[in-house]
Amino acid sequence: MTLERRRFDALIIGAGGGGLRAALQLARADLNVAVVSKVFPTRSHTVAAQGGVNAALANVMPDNWHWHMFDTVKGSDYLGDQDAIEYMCRVAPELVYELEHYGVPFSRLDNGKIYQRAFGGQSQNFGEKQAARTCAAADRTGHAILHSLYQQNIRAKTHFFDEYFATDLIRNEEGVVQGALIVSIQTGETLLVEARTTLLATGGAGQIYRTNSNALINTGDGLGMALRAGVPLQDMEFVQFHPTGLAGIGMLITEGCRGEGGYLVNSEGERFMERYAPNAKDLASRDVVSRAIYLEVKEGRGVGPNKDHVLLKLDHLGAETIMKRLPGIRQSSITFVGVDPIEKPIPVFPTAHYFMGGIPTNRKGEVVAPYKDTPEEPVPGLYAAGECACVSVHGANRLGGNSLLDIIVFGRAAADEMIRHIRENPYHEEIDETAVEKVLDRLHRWDRKGEGETVEGLKDDLKKAMEDFCGVYRTQELLDQGVEEIRKIRDRLPDVYISDFSRCFNTARIEALELENLVDVAMAVVKSASVRQESRGAHSRVDFPKRDDQQWMKHSLYFLEGDRMDFKPVRTKPLTVESFPPKERVY
Ligand SMILES: Cc1cc2nc3c(=O)[nH]c(=O)nc-3n(C[C@H](O)[C@H](O)[C@H](O)COP(=O)(O)OP(=O)(O)OC[C@H]3O[C@@H](n4cnc5c(N)ncnc54)[C@H](O)[C@@H]3O)c2cc1C
Repeated sequence: MTLERRRFDALIIGAGGGGLRAALQLARADLNVAVVSKVFPTRSHTVAAQGGVNAALANVMPDNWHWHMFDTVKGSDYLGDQDAIEYMCRVAPELVYELEHYGVPFSRLDNGKIYQRAFGGQSQNFGEKQAARTCAAADRTGHAILHSLYQQNIRAKTHFFDEYFATDLIRNEEGVVQGALIVSIQTGETLLVEARTTLLATGGAGQIYRTNSNALINTGDGLGMALRAGVPLQDMEFVQFHPTGLAGIGMLITEGCRGEGGYLVNSEGERFMERYAPNAKDLASRDVVSRAIYLEVKEGRGVGPNKDHVLLKLDHLGAETIMKRLPGIRQSSITFVGVDPIEKPIPVFPTAHYFMGGIPTNRKGEVVAPYKDTPEEPVPGLYAAGECACVSVHGANRLGGNSLLDIIVFGRAAADEMIRHIRENPYHEEIDETAVEKVLDRLHRWDRKGEGETVEGLKDDLKKAMEDFCGVYRTQELLDQGVEEIRKIRDRLPDVYISDFSRCFNTARIEALELENLVDVAMAVVKSASVRQESRGAHSRVDFPKRDDQQWMKHSLYFLEGDRMDFKPVRTKPLTVESFPPKERVY
């Protein structure tokens, strides 16, 4: 059977905010751009972002990008690259106004300016007092951004392959990425997309944990694709647990609730964050608040019959504020736990939420990695943006509202670099047929029906292992055991069969392909965590409770081949201002 082929200037894998912002830039430059998404674009996880997007607009109180930069560097526990952070914070206002002009209906102040709410880790004057920097469209900011970007792309004539699943990148012997193989989820037919530039914008991988805030589609496919193409993953040990997931469910209750004045209480009715972060209290950085909740529960001050969660109190805000600023949260709470926050506090517990790590890129969105014997340099033809990329602006811990900013800023930056590359390389190179054969072989390895392990069974074991061995608090013993467990799970992959072959083979095969990506990402996380012997940001080691800048102020790199680890320096030099030297991080 001959393989169907299409050619584009640019291939974007992923139609979340990152992918769509990039696609728009390319389409407006009159380039031929294809966007592939495994779900209809407006169902990408960006749609679920609630709280908002950060930019120092100074609409509510004094603010500037330099304070935003300071907060981001501090929030990252000094692991973020300061050149990229400076760039992101400087251009943030421009990008938010751009979104407004694309049609995002931001909430307004009485004077007509964009409304901004307080979020965790935000300060005025380099840590002095709380700032309000998060631009919000009620509690549906991601929804508004994603729909506006989709509409603008339709207008710009971006070509969409909806409900197509990308399986693997095509990378030739010289290391050039030439496109990807995609599969129609409905029919199972394959299509080879040849492209002079390929952008991975596949989002996060929260599904490696049992309790998470992510969509079911967040299975880290782009991370798996990068690993199989020989690209390492950076800083994967840093997984953010959001403090306020709905208890027992994991679904997100935005930090915006605390930004509006909500606070956490334990079984004694105590506002316990005052003890852990005397200044910022409930608006301390996420890692700090998540650890506090864990300790409260561990020390017996949890709420409920099993004393296994705490409460988020909002009722004192009054019905009007809740209905106007947090309508979606109220609805989720009523629907999923039967609690109306206007009357009663919401039961919450930390939930796996966000990956600070990912595919290593520079601030132009170029994927930067070693290849064979050559040292680290841009991978020709390959770019990454959004949650799957590690620029790194979030370092060891991301601040709320900085991810929507990251995807928009670096989606655009990557597209600008792709435009430059396409103009300098006007012709398609001949595609490497051996590389094509290799990815087809992998796809067809999953054409197996029969008896054995099920995809679901193995996935459950994986998620449980990650929760047991690589959660909020970590020790060497647990992590070493975790590496062994994930290795055993990986060894079981060849025994997985697709049981409902006749009924819905295409979707069952997609789930198997996703499982392979989940397993590879899980190994990257637990292996990287087992190596880093310090506590920094979201990585909390009980056995190494302190940050160790002498030994560990460096990025980690995980390579699939041999589960090998390597390291690279943090870029501590900003573009135009002085660097922020590491300090103890207190809130
Ligand atoms: C519940 C929730 C609330 C959040 N709230 C906020 C917030 O208020 N502020 C903030 O700054 N951040 C927030 N975040 C984080 C932020 O929303 C995400 O990090 C960001 O939206 C990710 O965007 P993205 O473009 O990288 O990927 P996504 O929006 O996740 O999109 C990924 C895309 O990749 C496609 N894809 C994946 N794999 C494949 C494949 N194999 N083949 C084809 N297509 C594929 C998917 O179909 C999808 O289109 C929140 C996250 C969650 C989960």
